Amino acid sequence: MNRFLTRTAPRVAKRSNSTLRYDGRVAVVTGAGNGLGREYALALGARGATVVVNDFGGGMHGEGASSVAADEVVAQIKAAGGNAMANYANVCNTDEVLGPVLEEYGKLDILINNAGILRDRSFLRISDDDWQAIMDVHLTASFKLSQKAFEVMKAQKYGRIINTSSSSGIYGNFGQANYAAAKMGLVGLTNTLAIEGRKNNVLCNAVAPQALSRMTENIFPADLHEMLGPQFVAPLTLYLCHEDCDETGGVFETGGGYSSKLRFQSTKGALFATKAAYPTVEDVAAKFDEICNFDDEPEAVESIQEATMRIMNAISDMPDAP
Ligand code: NAD
Repeated sequence: MNRFLTRTAPRVAKRSNSTLRYDGRVAVVTGAGNGLGREYALALGARGATVVVNDFGGGMHGEGASSVAADEVVAQIKAAGGNAMANYANVCNTDEVLGPVLEEYGKLDILINNAGILRDRSFLRISDDDWQAIMDVHLTASFKLSQKAFEVMKAQKYGRIINTSSSSGIYGNFGQANYAAAKMGLVGLTNTLAIEGRKNNVLCNAVAPQALSRMTENIFPADLHEMLGPQFVAPLTLYLCHEDCDETGGVFETGGGYSSKLRFQSTKGALFATKAAYPTVEDVAAKFDEICNFDDEPEAVESIQEATMRIMNAISDMPDAP
C-alpha cells in the first residue's frame, strides 16, 4: 500500500483554535480565483482580514478573461461573515490592481503575489511571447505590485509581502526554462526586498508550494490528490503574513502539510592562485574537484557580506609563491 494513504485527510477545517487573526488588516491576494490564491483568500477572510480577491479569470496559459472566479470567492468569504472585494484586473496592470484598494481602504497590509500561468515548452521551442508572458505575470507584476505596496507599507511601517516561487525555479525542470527563470528571479526579489524592508517592518518571504490545482492535476498521482489540497499550504503562507511572525528573506518549500526552509550552501572552496602570478585555467583544473567538494565542511552563506568576506579571507590566506 502506498504509505501516504495511511494518513486520514482532515475534511473539516480546524477553526476552534483560530487565535492568529488578521482583523483590521487589508490583504491583496493576486490570482485568488482558483487554487492556492483562492485558499489564501478564504483563510484570510475567515480570520478577519479584509481581502481583495484579484483574478482576471482566464485560462491556465493566460488566455481569456472572466469575473466569475473572483466573484465566487468574494461571495464565499462574505457568506462566511467576512469582508472582501473583487478585482478583475490583470496583475500586469499595477494601478488597476492596487488603485481601487488604496482608494477604498487607504491602506495595504498584506500582498500575496500568487497569480500565475504556464507556457511550458522544451527550451528550443520557447517563443519570445512564451518567455515574455511568463516574465510579465510572475516576475514583472510581482516587482511592480511589490514596489507600489512597499511605498504604502514603508509609510505605515507595517507590511507583509509573499512572493510565489517554485521548485521548478530552484532546481530547474524540463520544459520550464521561462517559468523557472521567473520563479528564481522572485527569490532574488524577495531577498533584496527583505533587506530593504526590515527597518520599516516590511517583511518579505518566498513560498515554493506544491499543491493540487488546475496547473498540477495531471502531474501528481491521483491517489495523493486529497493530501495535496491548497489547504495544506495556506497555513504556512498565512503565518508568514501574520504580525507575530518576524521572519523575512526566507524561502520555504511547502505542500501536504509539510514545510522546510531553504538556504544556500557553499563548498569550503579552494584557493588556486598565489601572489606571484595570475592563475591559469590549468590551476583551476587542478583544484576543480576541491572547488566542487561538498563532503568537506560545506558552509551556509547567509548574506552578500559573508560571501564577500570569504573571498577577502582567501586573498589574505594566499601564499606568496607556489
Ligand atoms: P491556478 O491556475 O489554480 O491559479 C492561478 C490563478 O492566477 C488563476 O485563477 C488565474 O486566473 C490567475 N491569474 C493568472 N494570470 C493572471 C493575471 N495576469 N492577472 C490576474 N490573475 C491571473 O494555479 P495555482 O497552482 O494555484 O498557482 C498559484 C501560484 O503558485 C502560481 O504562481 C504558480 O506558479 C505557483 N506554484 C504552484 C504550484 C502548485 O503545485 N500548484 C507549484 C509551484 C508554484
